[in-house]
Amino acid sequence: MTDLHRLSIRELSEGLAGSKFSSRELTEHYLKRIEKIDAQVQSYVTVTPEQALAQADAADALRKSGMANVLTGVPIAHKDIFCTHGIKTTAGSKMLDNFISPYDATVVAKGKVAGLVTLGKVNMDEFAMGSTSESSYFGATKNPWALDHVPGGSSGGSAAAVAADLAPFATGTDTGGSIRQPASFCGLTGLKPTYGRVSRFGMIAYASSLDQGGPMARSAEDCAYLMNVMAGHDERDSTSVNIDADDYVANLNGTSVKGLRIGIPKQYFNVAGLDADVKARVEESLKKLEDMGATLVEIDLNMTDAYVPTYYLIAPAEASSNLQRFDGVRYGYRCENPVDLTDLYKRSRSEGFGPEVQRRILIGTYALSAGYYDAYYVKAQKVRRLIQQDFLKAFESVDVIAAPSAPTTAYKIGASLDPVEMYLGDIYTIAVNLAGLPAINAPVGFDKDQLPIGLQLIGNYWSESQLLSVVHQYQQATDWHTKRAAIAEETV
Ligand code: GLN
Repeated sequence: MTDLHRLSIRELSEGLAGSKFSSRELTEHYLKRIEKIDAQVQSYVTVTPEQALAQADAADALRKSGMANVLTGVPIAHKDIFCTHGIKTTAGSKMLDNFISPYDATVVAKGKVAGLVTLGKVNMDEFAMGSTSESSYFGATKNPWALDHVPGGSSGGSAAAVAADLAPFATGTDTGGSIRQPASFCGLTGLKPTYGRVSRFGMIAYASSLDQGGPMARSAEDCAYLMNVMAGHDERDSTSVNIDADDYVANLNGTSVKGLRIGIPKQYFNVAGLDADVKARVEESLKKLEDMGATLVEIDLNMTDAYVPTYYLIAPAEASSNLQRFDGVRYGYRCENPVDLTDLYKRSRSEGFGPEVQRRILIGTYALSAGYYDAYYVKAQKVRRLIQQDFLKAFESVDVIAAPSAPTTAYKIGASLDPVEMYLGDIYTIAVNLAGLPAINAPVGFDKDQLPIGLQLIGNYWSESQLLSVVHQYQQATDWHTKRAAIAEETV
């Protein structure tokens, strides 16, 4: 079969169950595509063919014995921020270029239990800091829709791999938009779950109070399958919440769009820099949801102007603390011939971290320093609470909140945005992380250059099933999520 990469997760599951193809055939098919096509996209940092084929054979044996799960033998790509036992885990950094994890992240371990086959590890901005995947030590990943454009970031490798059909789905992480924005830039569906829904154990930390893993795939249905694997309580993560996860696949038709109240924040649609095509496509998608029976309700989110400054204090502050562990002693990069301990620390960190990571460590260390802690960090935490309350007030009168996922479509590679310009591009995604809420991106069309545009729906706490269900129904009525970049159409 030459078109296995065109099948949805449900179709893959059914095909494997019905012995239409084996996991080995499916895995070989994807490995061949990666070998032929990924040189152009550069979505993978590490491909693991031997391990993948061994897992595929084990999956096929399990099928024969009648012990298979619904996803046994389905391939996946993991963002290179999830620790994988025996396989290099780099977080896109020179600092971890030689790091082989002695254990699996919970998400990876759960994937193994579910029978998923790991194709490899995909590229990302260094330590998940960025919006373009260009800050990776391993070079920029390309957007499959236009190879001279970025796929977004930080989960740009995950997005590009799925959009080029080099993996049927992928894991991502979202600290301030890193699942939703690359999903938007690459025409995919991506879900950032409620904080605490997916275990962070073994997920290399950027900003611990904001980080959350989630699925990236073509459709809400595909994401639901991966959420069923990823979600759940983990006692090894103290912020993991002990509430039963839903059956996200079973709930795909659980929410009716009819009567759904969708909040439209006035402030969001008047943001300077909101691209006209993005605005138009998002508004058309909302009109479509209205035709399907939803009610659009204008709401206020008065704290919008505070999002970027608040996030860009809290995230770097936590990053500066989290990244202290990379000191040239315990693991990762160590400079050559240090003269003493201070020299070892200094040079290992200066040589091992790239410029964006160093910038954030400096900002964060400054914000946490004795004289400035109250003025910056404590103040930012107070504003964070106000941002959360703003959302909770809105959810008294609406079920979900609509927004673009990003003010623009994908940037050109090397567009050399200055850091503040890049930070402003996160305006629609970061408040969701500050509040710990779930949100989803769904593709809703293209701009004049045929670059994808995404609609973001933000839900109340633990409403992952509702968000997936609403998008699933939108996707039953539209075909944006089925569009493929030319490179994904290439057969090998
Ligand atoms: N672009 C944002 C940042 O650079 C978000 C990144 C993320 O979600 N990991 O911090």
